[in-house]
Amino acid sequence: MENKPLATLVVVEHDNQSLSADTLRALSAASQIQQDGASLPVTALLVGHQCSSVLNELKCVQGISQIVAAEYQYALAENLSTLIAEVGRDYSHILAPASTFGKNLMPRVAALLDVGQLSDVIAIESLDTVIRPIYAGNALARVRSDDTTKVMTIRSSAFDAVTVSDSPVIENVVTLETVINAEHSEFVSQQKAESERPELPTANVVVSGGRGLGSKENFALVEQLADKLGGAIGASRAAVDAGFVSNDLQVGQTGKIVAPQLYIAVGISGAIQHLAGMKDSKVIVAINSDPEAPIFQVADYGLVGDLFEIMPELLEKV
Ligand code: FAD
Repeated sequence: MENKPLATLVVVEHDNQSLSADTLRALSAASQIQQDGASLPVTALLVGHQCSSVLNELKCVQGISQIVAAEYQYALAENLSTLIAEVGRDYSHILAPASTFGKNLMPRVAALLDVGQLSDVIAIESLDTVIRPIYAGNALARVRSDDTTKVMTIRSSAFDAVTVSDSPVIENVVTLETVINAEHSEFVSQQKAESERPELPTANVVVSGGRGLGSKENFALVEQLADKLGGAIGASRAAVDAGFVSNDLQVGQTGKIVAPQLYIAVGISGAIQHLAGMKDSKVIVAINSDPEAPIFQVADYGLVGDLFEIMPELLEKV
């Protein structure tokens, strides 16, 4: 088996302006990869375009020993994965958030390094062993990897963010000149939904709507409550499939995983695939006309009744 230094590489997710909250949580997971009680040295890999504000933010993050930065105008998963695999050869562990970004990237990195991937990790047990949910979160698997490089995606809701100082704490920044072009892909354009609301995975409050709302127009009730509470909007897959909202708002096994302080489920039955994405929320409120709906099994507060009567009343009172 190849002998390589024990060190962790964390791939930084950002939008060229600021660090994603998921990255701060992946860095927290990285700090838990330890030998003899001490964290392995952590390198943050920052690839982006004119992203000095992200670099400045990153310099203030505690627990990083080195930043490796590379200027890429368009960092596609196709070329970024090759770069990570090359840089990552010197690391025993490579981590990224289990976000759309990380899920697009890390399987390619694992394939290029010819190792398995540890997906959606929720706890680090030791240098080679992690815990990850399986069967939509109904069971937890303890997985040991004997690969020389452990490639992992980190479930953000399972880790607290690392501390960010007011002033820079990291001096060691290495700039990479290597630019790898993707052979078969090129950047064409990007469309981003602009929203004043907080990001779904990191919001403190999430108000989600389901099929019970009946139409896209009625979904406004969910939006109004979210806005009153300064929260993000979520949805069940049935609501997304019915076209009430876009699919980037889907919560669940095949959507986003959230664990806000407050999750309000409106007209959502609570299928296991939906629960897989929200059951770790601190306080769960369910509004449903069916007292037998499974959502009530995980809810801390349940309102049994017609949402079209409850929601206007709630909106008035909040
Ligand atoms: P329904 O199950 O139809 O529930 C609607 C609820 O609204 C009912 O409980 C009803 O009592 C209530 N209601 C109706 N009218 C009113 C009213 N006027 N007032 C109050 N309550 C009312 N689902 C997800 O959400 N996320 C996922 O990521 C996901 N991934 C999946 C992956 C796979 C492989 C599969 C097979 C399924 C997945 N699903 C997922 C789908 C999931 O199984 C359910 O079909 C879906 O969650 C149901 O959405 P819903 O609760 O909005 O709809």
